[in-house]
Amino acid sequence: MRPRHRDGRHGRPQRRHDRAHPEAEVLTRRHGRVWLFDLDNTLHDASHAVFGELSPAMTDYIVRHVGLEESAASALRTHYWRRYGVTMLGLVRHHGVDASHFLEETHRLPGLEARLRMNGPDRAVLRHLPGRRYILTNAPRGYAMRVLRALGMDHLFDGLVSIDEMSMFGSHRPKPDARMLRHLAAALKVPASRCILVEDTLDHQRSARSIGMRTVWMTGYARRAARTAHASSRWPMPAYVCARINRIQQLRAIGVTV
Ligand SMILES: [Mg+2]
Repeated sequence: MRPRHRDGRHGRPQRRHDRAHPEAEVLTRRHGRVWLFDLDNTLHDASHAVFGELSPAMTDYIVRHVGLEESAASALRTHYWRRYGVTMLGLVRHHGVDASHFLEETHRLPGLEARLRMNGPDRAVLRHLPGRRYILTNAPRGYAMRVLRALGMDHLFDGLVSIDEMSMFGSHRPKPDARMLRHLAAALKVPASRCILVEDTLDHQRSARSIGMRTVWMTGYARRAARTAHASSRWPMPAYVCARINRIQQLRAIGVTV
């Protein structure tokens, strides 16, 4: 698995602002850190724009291709999402579903671009975070690129690692697979301890921390998650979370250093 860059190449890309501002490259070398950003409910409000249509689309796919009634299909979708972290993995393993077909069919999401929204200052902060920046998402590449372009963020990252790239030895290995995360760090030529995963899903952070990555829990968009006991100020953060933020712009101030 190697990260693919915005233009589809493999290898180390050069960001536009690196070329325009050589001091940015100096910062990159000095800090040597790699930011791994989840996409949905980390960089934009997917609960508002995506999930309301994505879940029914997946249920409908299971009805049509697995042959279940709608209520059973919905329950199976939820079961696989909880068990594997992504519904697709359960359908591939237990029902012989073609992963590419499933992802393409369920992520059509007509009118998606008009519903997308993110915090404006967050975009500005991303632009100046020192170090390399990658998107690491369990969503398919085509969908991720639509979101990044619509939100004006496609030029802010050194590369995109989508679920299309998360496979090893012929098997899909999406987040939270620890072997995939370790392999990704190796592909980026950086120790896991120099990587910072910014993410709204705790299971993914637990896995990343287990291999030595730093973790930042983004709770600003995942409102339901933010109402859980873990997110309450009355309860401590899980031990595997290094820092918690509500806005990406808080990354400037928190003490997550590598
Ligand atoms: Mg997410």
